[in-house]
This record gives sequence, C-alpha cells and structure tokens, in this order.
Amino acid sequence: MRFIKGNGKEFVPPTVGNWIITLQGFIYIWKIVYNEKFQYLYTRNLNQDAIEIFFGCIRSHGVRNVNPTTNAFTNSFKTLIINNFVSSHSPNANCEEGESEGALNILNAFLNDNVKISIGVEIVDENNCPIKFKETSYSQLNIDSYIAGYLARGLLKKLKNCRACKTFLLTKQSETHHELINARAYNANALLRPNSQYTTLFGKCTQLAHYLLPIMCEKSHVLIRISSEMYKYINIQSSCSVHDLQAIFIEKFLNLYVFTWVKNVNLVLKGQGRRNINDSIKETALDKCNKIKRSLSFINAIINNIKKIKE
Ligand SMILES: [Zn+2]
Repeated sequence: MRFIKGNGKEFVPPTVGNWIITLQGFIYIWKIVYNEKFQYLYTRNLNQDAIEIFFGCIRSHGVRNVNPTTNAFTNSFKTLIINNFVSSHSPNANCEEGESEGALNILNAFLNDNVKISIGVEIVDENNCPIKFKETSYSQLNIDSYIAGYLARGLLKKLKNCRACKTFLLTKQSETHHELINARAYNANALLRPNSQYTTLFGKCTQLAHYLLPIMCEKSHVLIRISSEMYKYINIQSSCSVHDLQAIFIEKFLNLYVFTWVKNVNLVLKGQGRRNINDSIKETALDKCNKIKRSLSFINAIINNIKKIKE
C-alpha cells in the first residue's frame, strides 16, 4: 500500500508499517488460540485502551501527578485500588471511553463475592438527625426522581461530566421511580435517570431542608448555616477522587431548594400558590396576604363610599 503526495511522489506512512506489524500479531495470536479450540478471535478487544485509561487514572490521582516516581506510582496504584477508583476518560487520550466502569472494580468484586458492586455509598445519619424521615409515597418518589434528574444535569455540568460522579448519580436502567421522567421526556434520552440511591438521598435532603429553612431563614448567612447543618447528617462517599461531590451537591441542592422556596413564599404573599403552604413561614405569609386583602377591601369600600357621596 502506497500513498501519493500532492507533488506526485509516492510514500508509505509509518502507520502502514505499524498496521502490518499489528496484523502479523493477530495472525500469531490466532495460531495459538486456534490450537486451544477457539472458534473466533474478537480483534476489537485487543487494544491498549484499558491501559491508557488506567494511566490516566494514575496521572489524575491527587489532582495532577503527571511524572510520578516509582514509589508515587505504587502508592497511587494502591490508593486507586482501595478507593475502587473510576476515572473520567483520560483527557486528550487517543482511546475510546471504557464501557466497563473501571478495571479496578475487579478487586471489589473479589472482596464482595457476588455482591452487587456499589460505586458510591450515601449515608444520611438518621440517628442524630433532628427529624424523622417520612416514608416516601410512590408519586412523591417519582417527583423526587424528576427533580433529582434536573439537578443532576446542573451537577454534571459543573463536574465536567465526570464519569465517577456520574456513576454515583445516574443509572442506565429504567426503574419504577422513572415513570414521571419517562412520561415527560420527549425522547428516550432527553431527561437524565437518577439511580435509586441518589433519588433517596435527594428526597431525604428535601425533607431536611424543609425542616431547616423555616427555622433558619430569618438569620443572617442562611445558606452557610443550612449547609453546615446538612453537613452533619449527610455523608456522600463517591469513588471520585477528583471532586468533592458532597460539597458540590449540597451547594447546588440548596441553591435550587432555597430559590424555589423563596419563590413560593412570594407567590403566597401575592395570593397565589396556596396549595404549597406546608410550613410555618408560608402560613405566616398567608396571614399577611389575607390581612393586606382585608385592609385593601376596607380602603376600597371607603373610596367607593366617598365616590357615592360626591355623586
Ligand atoms: Zn468526579
């Protein structure tokens, strides 16, 4: 095989030579495995992608570790195995993203023989929590899942679509709590499908914020106060060694929750959104709204009377 340059000269690029070596390698391997009664050889699986992704993990361990010594490499390797590390696709790497969630998961599989591999663990410290979590109804679970999916989109944008963090948040399987999402998605991939672990976490955080916000909203630095309170009870342990998912989640969650809550309080003050009244502040807002309405109708009555007298 030859290529012809613009000036008409023939040349053979190095790729062709390397390709021939690769094909010779396939033939060599095939001879061996054929004798072992293999029926076919799936050449697609003979590539260096897994190794390239693995080195990507080592390089990105500890923020930036591009030129590790042998000792640093060994330590990173150990840590990665222990953390059950799953990395995002190595940047600029000339390889496809591995569909396996990280070759390093295999150790976990050995340790937890037959146990479903859990990439991240979410713990809400229920014993020390100031509230008792309610059982979530089927419809509420679907609503939680829908909003959690919306929040996940914002999170993943901030996390630059990190693969390990994504594993903590989403699932590829369709589950019962996705029914609202399926109903509202205009195509199968339009909305993200949060996994049950993250959906439960989201639901519990909503219950916690629902308790905390009304009792803290009158104080200064309300976001800082609530997030430090939530930190006490929520402990996200994702396998990502790059991102502090807990901090990013709590920040994004509270931004969304507090924004929606304030919007709803304002709606109640305006005399709308009565069906959202579910805490003391919104009840106070409703009282205030009714008082304003009463005094307005009183003022209107006086104005009408004055008009009548003038006529
Ligand atoms: Zn991450």
